[in-house]
Amino acid sequence: MSKRGKLVVVTGPSGVGKSTIVGEVVRRTGAAFSVSATTRPARPGEVEGREYQFIDEATFEGMIQRDELLEWAKVYGCYYGTPSAPVRQGIEAGRTVILEIDVEGGKQVHRHMPEATFVLIEPPSADALAHRLTGRGSETSQKRQERLAKADEEIAAAKASGVYNRSVVNDDLEAAIEQVAAIVREESIDT
Ligand code: ADP
Ligand code: 5GP
Repeated sequence: MSKRGKLVVVTGPSGVGKSTIVGEVVRRTGAAFSVSATTRPARPGEVEGREYQFIDEATFEGMIQRDELLEWAKVYGCYYGTPSAPVRQGIEAGRTVILEIDVEGGKQVHRHMPEATFVLIEPPSADALAHRLTGRGSETSQKRQERLAKADEEIAAAKASGVYNRSVVNDDLEAAIEQVAAIVREESIDT
């Protein structure tokens, strides 16, 4: 019997360190990163097909209509979604696939694949989160305020959903990376 891979969904508020952690976990574990499609413009340093597939709204809406997305959401005015095919292919090939998506998207994935592992990354404090978002410097002050204002709400919604069965506080970065890597390395369940 060939073993199917497992799906790990990582979520948390903007600026908590998801991309930093997931990038390093992928490097250390060899898991497959699910590249989302988005209508958000690329940030400096982001590469088409590596962080995201950067597409326009009409193309995204076509993907929704053709049912090509495992989940999707409109976050901060832009579309973000997970193309289903690479996730399905990765799992069938026995690989662990990691999704880095928002809380709402994770809840949609749970409806299709409740056997997946759902990890909530939390900041050590609201101040630390504000500091990280400012330090990243990728949003205007107004956009940053919008993301910060939503953070508490997102964490509360994630906890209330009952979907997120694992939680990691990203205080010391190295410790957080190793905790998520340990979750990723856990034995996958045969389905
Ligand atoms: P997200 O993907 O959740 O929006 P990022 O991975 O872009 O967040 O991280 C936001 C900023 O916080 C980045 O500048 C990153 O280098 C920094 N950062 C991540 N983890 C930590 C940590 N444990 N301590 C301090 N800064 C961190
Ligand atoms: P950013 O613009 O900072 O890269 O991402 C903004 C938010 O969108 C983050 O919470 C991120 O996890 C989320 N996100 C990224 N890709 C996806 C996706 O495919 N689906 C959903 N639902 N959210 C996503």
